[in-house]
Amino acid sequence: MDVDWISRARDLKPRVLDFVDGRWKPGLGDELVSKFGSRDGKLLYEFSATSPAQLTDAVAAASTAFQDGRWSGGSAQHRKETLLELASLVENHREELALLECLDVGKPIRDALTIDIPFAVSILRYNAEAVDKLYSKIYAVSRSNISFQLRRPVGVVAAIVGWNFPLVLAAQKIAPALAMGNSLVLKPSEFTSLAAGRLAELALEAGLPPGVLNVVNGGASVGNALARHPDVDLLTFTGSSRTGKALLVAAGESNMKRLLLECGGKAPSIVFDDCPTLEEAADAIVSRVFWNQGEVCSASSRLLVHESVKPELMKLVIQKADALRPGDPLIHGTAFGALVSGAHMKKVLGYVDAGIRDGATLIHQTTYKAPFADGFYVPPTIFADVAPNHRIAQEEIFGPVLSVISFQDEAEAVRIANGTVYGLSAILWTKDLGRAHRLALNLCAGSIVINATAKPEGGPAEGVIPSGGLKQSGFGVEGGLEGLVAYSSPSAVQIFV
Ligand code: NAD
Repeated sequence: MDVDWISRARDLKPRVLDFVDGRWKPGLGDELVSKFGSRDGKLLYEFSATSPAQLTDAVAAASTAFQDGRWSGGSAQHRKETLLELASLVENHREELALLECLDVGKPIRDALTIDIPFAVSILRYNAEAVDKLYSKIYAVSRSNISFQLRRPVGVVAAIVGWNFPLVLAAQKIAPALAMGNSLVLKPSEFTSLAAGRLAELALEAGLPPGVLNVVNGGASVGNALARHPDVDLLTFTGSSRTGKALLVAAGESNMKRLLLECGGKAPSIVFDDCPTLEEAADAIVSRVFWNQGEVCSASSRLLVHESVKPELMKLVIQKADALRPGDPLIHGTAFGALVSGAHMKKVLGYVDAGIRDGATLIHQTTYKAPFADGFYVPPTIFADVAPNHRIAQEEIFGPVLSVISFQDEAEAVRIANGTVYGLSAILWTKDLGRAHRLALNLCAGSIVINATAKPEGGPAEGVIPSGGLKQSGFGVEGGLEGLVAYSSPSAVQIFV
């Protein structure tokens, strides 16, 4: 039977509190955060941010928990079992958590249920399963010496994340950090504050000791205080490149804490004249640029297309984009929802104006009837005749806007693809194996997909492949065993006997 999500949302009493040392506490800071719902623009919840003194308490709780070894001193087996239990609890509470994600972000409830929750669960399970399979390296053994590498947790990890996939982004931080034995203070985005505290509460239920995973709330000033705190040993971040740069300064001006930065992107989709099938490429292009209303770091927001296939490809792309009509995120059949906030909607519409002003041609905007006049809806929008130096071809819009640029040969395609400050991801379509290999070497992107489909089959599960950004998309890797060991510190040990 279909769930009546609208009634469930009506019955929900959203609340945002800090979760510190295993207890809920209201924020006492001066900043009042008012969250307006994406779908209807009505006030959804309000809360006071964490105060500076409360932030210090949260870091102290994490630090005490780390030092007394209640989690860090346990076995890898114990950490694995606890995180597996947390993954099961997230799965068991998938409807509750999906509703929070849908209301906070504006994403369709169906996507929250079928993409966000399984993604978060998969990351928790991968890191849990991997942690007791990491081996120490032995470099030399002789009669008088044994030399090896010791890995230990880093200590207190601060995690600051953005709003587009609140639960997934939190899981990407807490799963490897907890698996390696660290303690955490997590700060979700002030635009999507609902899921993080609930995740920490479920972790406690799974058997994580109090104080190991703490949640504070608020915006840039709370994040900045966390980034400058002298007792934070590692700061892991997902968000814009602009904030990433501010965090580099904050880390350098405080205790030189280590940084992992997952920042913005302006990914190209590159379609060559020997694209295997234009129909499948069009499906993938549309799903990868408009998925999550375009609010995805790896959204392929630039379409680079060989002149000879452009007319046919664009016909297909427009036809498929036209089927994505913004609708009420709480209705199960909705495939395209609302943007996260009114301010973000204005920013995205500002880019649509900039595209027109700079001389690009607006060739498509899906028509639709807004479910609520005050909701934050922007339909799929496509510009052709975009020049590589236009703002809509250079800056991250983080909304449903596709910029189409033509090219004549491979060298030009690579030049345009690499011609932004970002280097997060890229997709290309070609039947030529030699070209695929050359582009994998020449494209400046931390993640490259060749011949992508809208619903990829047979690839690795979420979180298995380590990847991270190049250039101003950040540094450090997330995922895989490399992403796990990023939350540990190595020491070289030589024992002489
Ligand atoms: P944002 O940088 O505005 O905010 C991210 C987080 O940083 C929030 O929690 C915010 O409160 C905090 N923050 C803001 N200013 C701060 C400061 N001066 N000091 C400390 N903390 C501060 O980003 P956003 O708008 O929330 O998220 C969208 C961005 O995230 C896009 O650029 C997107 O590409 C990026 N993103 C990247 C990935 C990835 O894996 N590379 C994934 C998702 C999103």
